[in-house]
Amino acid sequence: MSNQTQAIGKTTGALPDGLVPGLAQTIAEHGYPVAQETAGLVVSAPEGRLEARLDEDGLTVTIGAAGSAELHMIREAFLHVLDDAAPGVSGRMRWEGDVAKTTYPPNFRKARFVAAEPVSRNFLRVTLEADKVEDFREGGMHFRLALPPQGREPIWPRLDEAGRTQWPKGDDALHNPAYTFVAIEPDERRFSFDLFVHEGGLATRWAQTAQVGDVIGIMGPGGGKPPESDFLLIAGDETALPAIRRILELSPADRRGHVFLEIGDPGDQMPLAAPSGMNVEWLQRGEGSGLWDRLSAVDLPPAGSSRFVWIAAERALATKARRHFRDHLRLTARESYISAYWTA
Ligand SMILES: Cc1cc2nc3c(=O)[nH]c(=O)nc-3n(C[C@H](O)[C@H](O)[C@H](O)COP(=O)(O)OP(=O)(O)OC[C@H]3O[C@@H](n4cnc5c(N)ncnc54)[C@H](O)[C@@H]3O)c2cc1C
Repeated sequence: MSNQTQAIGKTTGALPDGLVPGLAQTIAEHGYPVAQETAGLVVSAPEGRLEARLDEDGLTVTIGAAGSAELHMIREAFLHVLDDAAPGVSGRMRWEGDVAKTTYPPNFRKARFVAAEPVSRNFLRVTLEADKVEDFREGGMHFRLALPPQGREPIWPRLDEAGRTQWPKGDDALHNPAYTFVAIEPDERRFSFDLFVHEGGLATRWAQTAQVGDVIGIMGPGGGKPPESDFLLIAGDETALPAIRRILELSPADRRGHVFLEIGDPGDQMPLAAPSGMNVEWLQRGEGSGLWDRLSAVDLPPAGSSRFVWIAAERALATKARRHFRDHLRLTARESYISAYWTA
């Protein structure tokens, strides 16, 4: 990836001891590959590269990224880590370069509701219209809705003087659930996603009651990218179904592995374009062996081979899976994506 945008930030004033090792540890805990060097660290992520160096003047942070949205995302993530490691320092940083100076964060845009139509018994395909939807083709499979509270004039996120996103709070707080792109149609200026209808969901209520032209916010794209491996173990529940479908569509024909999908209603089962070497099993929640039993019984190819484990489901299963695959079987962050997609 060529880094077309760049920002440089410098601190002023005193810094706490052990700042760089502290930052390196927190960044590693977030799953990013971080290399610690003399008086500095380097993080290379698919979105771009961040370098932090300490000298007698203080800390200098250089970020290079493919675009302004990626740059903004890396900078915000770094400032978040810095706030943890050294509270107060981020407010004393001065930034130069391609730092967003618009009112809205560069990865935010408004979108208008077009339609919500059933695709299976409990899924609605929601179509939205927005500017520059071609930007959604690169940078991750997911995005977040920014739903204003019902009956209130929306207050959208804004950038402050230092270029950090200020989110509306209290009664104006936005609801930000994550979703997965299903179709992106720049010619129509539209994109769509499949929303699992469930009890008590704010997004569900919004999709069921929205009127054509209603305006909401969108943050993205972001999140995981499809894994590249010869062997793939992929599993999830309804919320992961759109992402799993996408990963299977993009899978090479000779990929091997297992697909486990747990659903509560057989009316949500749909055809999947899985390679012939991948065994697909639909599991009915509450009947027979559950997702965890099937997942944990799979024999993985040995360490060092091209393998990947991708799991997204309710938090309790994700926690169990992380313990099993990461802690017990020692899969690295490069060989696994294990994510809580919702919390019961
Ligand atoms: C990266 C990522 C991608 C995702 N992609 C999709 C997608 O493409 N389609 C999709 O439908 N979901 C997807 N999800 C899951 C979705 O973000 C969550 O289910 C979210 O909580 C839905 O928001 P809500 O406003 O409906 O419910 P919330 O207001 O967040 O929660 C309200 C209540 O609903 C319950 N709840 C939330 N989700 C479920 C569920 N699945 N089943 C039963 N009860 C639930 C909560 O426990 C809570 O009690 C994704 C999540 C992530 C992290």
